[in-house]
Amino acid sequence: MAWRRFETFLGGIVLPDDKRATRGRAIAAAPVPRRLRVPLDVCGLGDATAEVGADTVVRAGERIGIAGGRLPVFSPVDGIVWGLATAELAGEPPGTTLCQAVEIVPSANQSLAAAEKAAAPAAEVAAMEDPDTILEQIAAAGLVTCSRPVMPLADWVEAARTANADTIIANGLENEPCLTADHRMLIEHGASVVDGLLLAARAIGASRAALAVDVHSSGRYRRAAERAEELGVEALALERKYPAGHPVMLTRIITRRTVRPGGKPLEVRVGVLDIATCLAISRCITTGEPMTRRVVTVAGRGASMPGNYLLPLGTPAGDALAIERVDPAAGALVWCGGPMTGARLEGDRMVIGPASSAVLVLPASGEQPPSVCIRCGWCTDQCPVRLNVAELNDLYELGQVSRAARYDVQACIGCGVCSYVCPASIPLAARMTRLKMAAKALGPTAPRRRAHRD
Ligand code: SF4
Ligand code: SF4
Repeated sequence: MAWRRFETFLGGIVLPDDKRATRGRAIAAAPVPRRLRVPLDVCGLGDATAEVGADTVVRAGERIGIAGGRLPVFSPVDGIVWGLATAELAGEPPGTTLCQAVEIVPSANQSLAAAEKAAAPAAEVAAMEDPDTILEQIAAAGLVTCSRPVMPLADWVEAARTANADTIIANGLENEPCLTADHRMLIEHGASVVDGLLLAARAIGASRAALAVDVHSSGRYRRAAERAEELGVEALALERKYPAGHPVMLTRIITRRTVRPGGKPLEVRVGVLDIATCLAISRCITTGEPMTRRVVTVAGRGASMPGNYLLPLGTPAGDALAIERVDPAAGALVWCGGPMTGARLEGDRMVIGPASSAVLVLPASGEQPPSVCIRCGWCTDQCPVRLNVAELNDLYELGQVSRAARYDVQACIGCGVCSYVCPASIPLAARMTRLKMAAKALGPTAPRRRAHRD
């Protein structure tokens, strides 16, 4: 089946690829971590309750807690509960969030390899389950969306139904440097990813389902393309340009529908899911597997074993499982997530959560102290949502939040392009995030004076 090519968008940038170290490495089981801190509330629902206490013996897949009264949490490993702890997760860039966790000491001599299971025949998937049964199963298995903002998948399905979503898109673009987890999932489990997308489409009642991938990698996704053809899923190949994979941009490129500033694709009847979520849906429906692990790219100059690993949720991100101890004084940063939108790892509390696509060791030498704006206009030219970033930066420096709100700062998607291109090294994306938060706290603003630049 041929991949259908799509045009791209104004602004954005072509980032260096930097994927060579892990692109060809098959997904492998990680060594068993010495200790896990399994987060109980990855979605910030509140009211997280551990259902096990110190010294409880747990089995992999056994329920150990619940969040918000509705999202069950399962143990990723066999082991003994050490007690309760605090875990840190990467949140909205550049922030992190803290939540309660169950600390587990894994038993020795267990394998973390996934039980391999061939994808079900296409006809079986096509006839699989009615929408309400799919919803019940993903709720019971504690599935969440594996990209930020992380939310219970059952809540996402309900929201998509309420919004009468008619289109669902699986985002396989992975256009941040260094990341190859989605790429490997599409190569090794492409048929299951497409199955998960179709099951999600059925759950929300969408009539159109599309798998979007990078045009330069599409030739490697043969199994995904074949399955898409069998199941009536569109296979779309997009130009490599960052941030084409952001849900707002993907919605605009593929459906030509524009999301309002600060809005969500569901408001224009489009649901966007990541590849890890699609794979988790397929596994959950076909094998009953709960959400306890994810594929993570481990790479960078400090990584002793770069690759793509199936890591239990709650694995300490800086653990020595695959990364040598890195001395920050030696000029390296440990990063959780992609280099453009991830969070810097400081201290030892950050753990692998459902949206942790990578643990990277990056050179710190590129970080320069900010200097004054030289009015080059690059940030504004490259902003994919066409904000006048230079002017918003002036408003940030002047503390004029209400004016920034009228200039549509809420439309910022936090992609980091402006910071990346700024020759003065001004942390523009972080400033836009702070402006957005301050503008939100102000409440409704006067009618917009100028939405986007011409
Ligand atoms: S202003 Fe926001 S959307 Fe525009 S480039 Fe910067 S981070 Fe991206
Ligand atoms: S890219 Fe940096 S230096 Fe250039 S206009 Fe924007 S803020 Fe100023």
